[in-house]
Amino acid sequence: MLTDQQVRTKINQLLDYAQKALDLDPRDRMLKLNTLLDLFGQSAPADETPDFGDFQTEIADPLVQYAVDKGITDDASRILFETRMFGLLTPLPSAVTDKFYALKDAKGVKAATDWLFALSKANDYVRMTDINKNIKWEHTGRFGKIGITINLSKPEKDPKQIALAKLQPKSGYPACMLCESNVGFAGNLNHPARQTLRTIPITLDGEDWWLQYSPYQYYEEHAIAFSDEHRPMSVTPKSFARLLDFVDLFPHYFMGSNAALPIVGGSILTHDHYQGGLKVLPMMSVGARAEYSSGKFPAVKFAVADWYNSVVRLTSKDKAQIHAAASFVLEKWNDWTDESVEVICKTTEQHNAITPIVRKEGDEYIVDMILRNNRTDERRPYGIFHPEECLHNIKKEGIGIIEVMGLFILPGRLKKELAEVERYLTGEVRFDKAALAAEDHPMHKHAGMIEALIAANGSSLSEKSAKQAVTNYVNDACVRILEYTAVFKNNDKGQAAFAKFMKEGLGVTAA
Ligand SMILES: [Zn+2]
Repeated sequence: MLTDQQVRTKINQLLDYAQKALDLDPRDRMLKLNTLLDLFGQSAPADETPDFGDFQTEIADPLVQYAVDKGITDDASRILFETRMFGLLTPLPSAVTDKFYALKDAKGVKAATDWLFALSKANDYVRMTDINKNIKWEHTGRFGKIGITINLSKPEKDPKQIALAKLQPKSGYPACMLCESNVGFAGNLNHPARQTLRTIPITLDGEDWWLQYSPYQYYEEHAIAFSDEHRPMSVTPKSFARLLDFVDLFPHYFMGSNAALPIVGGSILTHDHYQGGLKVLPMMSVGARAEYSSGKFPAVKFAVADWYNSVVRLTSKDKAQIHAAASFVLEKWNDWTDESVEVICKTTEQHNAITPIVRKEGDEYIVDMILRNNRTDERRPYGIFHPEECLHNIKKEGIGIIEVMGLFILPGRLKKELAEVERYLTGEVRFDKAALAAEDHPMHKHAGMIEALIAANGSSLSEKSAKQAVTNYVNDACVRILEYTAVFKNNDKGQAAFAKFMKEGLGVTAA
């Protein structure tokens, strides 16, 4: 355990760091010093402030460990405590908002987001140490590159933590993970601490919205815009107006909305929100497969993007007309049925939906509208346009906006499990079909994958070849998952149905 003298020295170093990286005003240093002395149960400060190397490992981590050792917090609450500590040193929302807009006025909006993003990393709201643990690679398939990430940044909860979390009373506050009431929230074992979260008020289509960064950073400057009001997700013409306003405010970012239906939507359907950030997602770099012009919207170019799933791409410099065109595509798609390709827009409930993504290049707006459908039937209870069960070992959850644009976020458990699959291929573990068929076998869900890999490669591969074979399998699985989400498949029949929707549904003509 650190001595009192060491703790006091580290508190001084923490304050130096806050002055350098967290905009701590020297005039506020005394107040923060005394607040930290209180937090760490210290009666007086240290005199000296030696230089230090790596802030996280030399200062932040040891202080949190001291708090655990001293009983100020407990082992299960390390992140909650660390967030509280950094929250004390993060500028107030008013100061953050003022500086953000002052930077925007003086140096442009990119300078403002650069600063806010740097602050969000420096106060560990965006936990880069964890995010850097993610395993990332790229794969080039038939329609271009896709990205694959095994997400190791969400720490796995141990059984003790899960048991403790169950005992926590549920207050219903904050109402969800996205409500503005998260700002400053102390958190508990069921809800993350958010003392370090800072949000920026923005106006979209005359409505109050907020901008924040995602703590998970699935891609560069992964940002979220969320409505001030806690209300369900919906995709309507108003959504397009807000997304277009967003890219006027932040032309260096894209912004898009998940479809508002389960299976094809994101994990949070209860709070109206969008996801955006730097324009780095694979779908954005592909060209057009077919181009069309519209008599109804002469200033808008219509196209079908050359991508794994079904994307209608609109391009125009005319904001009002592209808004009207996007609204028109939504209306037409929501009512479009083509039984030849199993697209049925509604049964007792709505099934067709759209995932819209908006960005700006120069003075041109680009609206990508990914056509989705969440219908299920007896044969495909998980969804007709959702990966089949044989792929659920790789990804079972809904396929949301990030994945349909070609960036796969796979569960952290796969790191261990894929390594185990490799051991079957090297012969280190003997393949026993009957044993794997038992539901309680730890590798049961991968049985199909192991069997297919052994059939193709045998079971005496070198470690390197085994690893490559497993990676190839995952790459191929991700491409197949993406193709499952296509309402118009990439074959003659599917593409003919797509052309029919363009011509008869949207009334456009081949350009
Ligand atoms: Zn909410």
